Amino acid sequence: MIEAVLIVAVIIMTGITGYRVKSLTTSGAAAAFLVGLAVYAGVGAKGLFLLGIFFATSSFWSNYKSAAKRTLEEKLAKGATRDWRQVFANGGMAAVFSILYLFYQDSILLLGFMVSLASANSDTWASEIGSLSKRAPIYIRTFKRVDKGTSGAVSMLGSTAALLGALTIAVVGFLLFKPTPLVLVLVFIFGYLGNVIDTLFGAFYQQVYACRQCGIETEKRFHCGQPTSQIKGILLMDNDMVNFLSGFLAAMLAIALYLILL
Ligand SMILES: [Zn+2]
Repeated sequence: MIEAVLIVAVIIMTGITGYRVKSLTTSGAAAAFLVGLAVYAGVGAKGLFLLGIFFATSSFWSNYKSAAKRTLEEKLAKGATRDWRQVFANGGMAAVFSILYLFYQDSILLLGFMVSLASANSDTWASEIGSLSKRAPIYIRTFKRVDKGTSGAVSMLGSTAALLGALTIAVVGFLLFKPTPLVLVLVFIFGYLGNVIDTLFGAFYQQVYACRQCGIETEKRFHCGQPTSQIKGILLMDNDMVNFLSGFLAAMLAIALYLILL
């Protein structure tokens, strides 16, 4: 009981700290609290530790050389401060698997939990570290170099970061939960695959807008003080939706393969 009270206090403190260092907005801090609570209730302190690895490293890489990334914020819908939609897009699936695990202690749910986190970590490391690449990224639809921050573009640095991001969650998860080596491999591969799916959806389905004033292509709904017009993408497919769907698909595919191999 004392442990539970202490841990809930730690979750609250983490949300407040995230807000104070501008990693989270008010709604983002509230969402992070809910995700933390769900993970602790379902998967316990070990699960919370794994979520903490994702949260701490993502915040670190977001703030790392943030001055160099400032021009990028013109293109992206949102800056480094995460709101509730971004928090749920990245941590929502892990929270859902945790709640399910609370009721059914099945190892496939633990696998889904770890893959969703590995996918979120892989994707965040890829975009935050990849944006520091010296060369412009290559857009996967045309194989031409495009501006940094374009969704659906890849760089060598970003892809390496994506592999390491997935590997980190796979290894720490393996040490914490001691699953079979197959689970370690699946978390790594499908965590990375989550980032690949994110890139594909980003290139083919994600909404892109253009500013009517200055002409910049951006994910923002407003630029130069007026609404932008949509030039690409399908309904509801913003960056948060793409993040959420890629984590969801990666986890489902990992579970399907695990059930086939078992
Ligand atoms: Zn503009």
